[in-house]
This record gives sequence, C-alpha cells and structure tokens, in this order.
Amino acid sequence: MCVVIAELDARPLIHLLLHAAVPGAVAFIWYRKHWWRAWLWMLAGWLIDIDHLLADPIYAPGRCSIGFHPLHSMPATFFYALLCLPRRTRLFGVGLLIHIGLDAIDCLMMR
Ligand SMILES: [Zn+2]
Repeated sequence: MCVVIAELDARPLIHLLLHAAVPGAVAFIWYRKHWWRAWLWMLAGWLIDIDHLLADPIYAPGRCSIGFHPLHSMPATFFYALLCLPRRTRLFGVGLLIHIGLDAIDCLMMR
C-alpha cells in the first residue's frame, strides 16, 4: 500500500487544487467584501480548458498545455491581459491569467 502511494504522482492533483485555491486566495485578499463572487468569476477562467476537447487524448498528464491548446496560446493570453483593463471583465481576465500562470508552472514541473 505504501509503495503504491509513493508511486502516485501528486502533481496533477496539486495542480487541480491550485486552480481553485489561488483564485480563492486572490479573491479573499483583494476582494474581501465580495470574495465569493470574485472567486466565482476567477474560477470561470477554468473554462478555457474546454480546448482540451480538441486534442487527442483529451487529457495527457505529461503534456504542457501552454502553446499546445489554442486557448492556452500567446495571442489568447494577450487577449486575457486585455480583459483585465475594463472593470467589468477584470475578474474574469485575472482568473484567466492565473489559469495560464498555473498551467505554465505545471509545464515547468514536468521537466
Ligand atoms: Zn489549462
């Protein structure tokens, strides 16, 4: 049993948890008054993972999303940064940039 647990790669699970925890922390620190709503808007940044449906296989634990999936490309990331400028789309834009940042860190951890 201990051997099986030791062989499990915790990186994908930690990555998923960070996709929820980091926007939650940002919402709690900078949008404390409406942290729940801010967190939900930033969690919506997870929607860009819908582009995984275009890939075969849909999920590959050793594949770096950045630069592979269309919604994880540099032009898309530039657009997400622009979404941070208007106040109405800022939380969604921040959530998207957090998502890209976490995916980029995940890519570095794969090396
Ligand atoms: Zn992603």
